Amino acid sequence: MPSSRFEAVDEAFKKRPIVVDAPAPTTSEYYGCNVFNRKAMREYLSEDTRRRIYESSEQGVILDRKTAEDVAAGMKKWALDKGVTHYTHWFQPLTGGTAEKHNSFIEPFGKGEAIEEFTGKILCQQESDASSFPNGGLRNTFEARGYTAWDPSSPSFIIGDTLCIPTIFISYNGEALDYKAPLLRSEIAVGKAAEALLEYFGIKDDRVVAYLGWEQEFFLVDSALYAQRPDLIMTDRTLIGHNAARNQQLEDHYLGSIPERVLAFMRDLEFECYKLGVPIKARHNEVAPNQFEIAPVYEEANLANDHNLVLMAVMKTVSEKHGFKVLFHEKPYAGVNGSGKHCNWSIGTVSGIGLFTPGKTDNENLMFLMFVSNVLKAVYDNNALLKASVLTATNAHRLGANEAPPAIISTFLGDQLRQAFDELLSSTDMVKLKGKKTYSLHIPQVPELFLDNTDRNRTSPFAFTGNRFEFRAVGSSANCSNAVCTLNTIVADQLVKFKKAVDARVKSGIPVMQAILDETRETYRASENECFDGNGYSKEWKAEAKRRGLDCETSAPKSYNILTDKDVVALYKRAGVMTDVELEARKETYCEIYSKKVEIEARVLADLTANHILPVATSYETKLLDNVSKMREVFSASEYKQLSATELDIIRNIATHISDVRDLAISMEAACDKANSAKSESAKANAYHDKVIPYIERIRVLVDDLEMIVDDDMWPLPKYRELLFIR
Ligand code: ADP
Ligand code: MG
Repeated sequence: MPSSRFEAVDEAFKKRPIVVDAPAPTTSEYYGCNVFNRKAMREYLSEDTRRRIYESSEQGVILDRKTAEDVAAGMKKWALDKGVTHYTHWFQPLTGGTAEKHNSFIEPFGKGEAIEEFTGKILCQQESDASSFPNGGLRNTFEARGYTAWDPSSPSFIIGDTLCIPTIFISYNGEALDYKAPLLRSEIAVGKAAEALLEYFGIKDDRVVAYLGWEQEFFLVDSALYAQRPDLIMTDRTLIGHNAARNQQLEDHYLGSIPERVLAFMRDLEFECYKLGVPIKARHNEVAPNQFEIAPVYEEANLANDHNLVLMAVMKTVSEKHGFKVLFHEKPYAGVNGSGKHCNWSIGTVSGIGLFTPGKTDNENLMFLMFVSNVLKAVYDNNALLKASVLTATNAHRLGANEAPPAIISTFLGDQLRQAFDELLSSTDMVKLKGKKTYSLHIPQVPELFLDNTDRNRTSPFAFTGNRFEFRAVGSSANCSNAVCTLNTIVADQLVKFKKAVDARVKSGIPVMQAILDETRETYRASENECFDGNGYSKEWKAEAKRRGLDCETSAPKSYNILTDKDVVALYKRAGVMTDVELEARKETYCEIYSKKVEIEARVLADLTANHILPVATSYETKLLDNVSKMREVFSASEYKQLSATELDIIRNIATHISDVRDLAISMEAACDKANSAKSESAKANAYHDKVIPYIERIRVLVDDLEMIVDDDMWPLPKYRELLFIR
């Protein structure tokens, strides 16, 4: 029997037919029921405690011990009422994904008795022997302790029988070992810097926060087929596989109707997400077959990012119930579009002023151009750093690989914004922003349309889209925090510089608004090279970008070097986001993760070829050899010569492929061993990039040839046409 209404809803939902005709519960009825949100707090916390917790999560006021005890008591009661038995500090290690260590509420006493215990101390802080998490040398073995510490700005939630408490993860000395701690610091930095500029415009006491709306792309694959692909299981992508005759040429999948089985999965997923307060808004097919996207309503960046991680975790479990595996890899299939996670990023005040939203008055528009020009400048000055924040072993298959977006970080403005800036450059006066153009279709039934202020350019990695910037280079498997933290940090630093420059102008006697206008013009002029509205995929753009001084590096390990560049270290220090030690550790960790990923791919590929592909190719070769030797017995010498020629060519071709693959696999393993003996993590990652990846690519070409030659009945792995089309 279900013990609560929501469990009953849950059960009913599971029995719901795909096409709903019976009255179903309204989403708002159960939305957030598994979150310790304001509604739950009203029921379980005193008014005084609630006020303190709002102050803490909204104004950054530090919670005192007494309040923590009260919150813990209320949270415990709430969780126990919902049948929860365990709790965990939920954190975001640099390996990606989330980590949790479940503890039972049970505390035994006497002989054979127990009570449920959950104190303020347990809520606030946990020691975690996390020496098995990558830490870039931040935690020596003698100081292997790490701590997780409660983030009250992101509400706790229940998954299954466990209360999950969002936490940061730091070393004994307080250095960040995770993605959340630097993100929180960067939000403070950008908020403060923007608030200082808003004062020029008479806006005070309005807290500025960073907002994030992610768009999660992913592939679904049938679990049964997945189970037969060791490469998918071990590396999340197909290391081999010939293109299907039809993949996305027809472009008939994008925004097509969602297949019923997938829709059933999505409904279930949304149901679970809504209970967890994840505001999923959009779902649709993507460009490639079996590729989809889910996007929420944007939220404050830290919360939005937690919600993205919750979504990814929930997707994994819900998809299994529907016989699917979800692939978050940026490029699970060669020759088919990859997956990204566009990060729609903006900053704004909690009262609702969007700093990248054009206004109605001259002053409002000046403020808008001021903030936008500062973003352009920050992105221009730090385009290499921004790229390093998204470039990983997996995302490298997407970035710069002839597919959106290129591995060059340029910014798209769109016609209207470009015109506004052009006007700014040529005038000394205030700039008039043209409002939305109306557009008549001359179809009487259809009302007048408002044209969006922005054009759509899908090839730009960083595009202005009306009231925000859309950072499209972020990978689908990534924790968005890396990208968003970098953006917040570089923009915070630029805003501080801007304010200094304006103050200097004002000091020399120029009126404030004129000073801002002049400085905005200079800022835009200095970052014009960053702006590119053309086709980012074209060859010409690569040459042009180089000329403009934009970073064109495509190697992830090389791009990580920027993290220890002295200007970058100074920037992070000024913003108070990361120390030199933390940056060094991050570089090391990213390199370590890079090497491990490539090493696993190389080892899996070597196993696959040795145990699956080559034995089958050899059997087929033997079959053909048997055939030709029998032909020799049956046919006359001249007939045999004529009839066996093609077959002998095929046999020769297979034999050469087999021997080449074998040789390459041996050399690849030797290259891995050599890379592993490198002196530093950086040297190792570079060796994997330069010396191992080329083998992976060459072996794939040969194996994909074999797939086309060998008898389809004998081929041991599900092929692309099956993985991508069978539902
Ligand atoms: P599209 O695919 O057309 O780019 P989607 O609707 O899939 O758009 O995603 C757009 C995302 O941008 C959503 O998550 C939306 O909430 C978010 N968004 C909208 N306005 C802002 C804003 N001012 N700041 C941050 N994110 C925003
Ligand atoms: Mg979208």
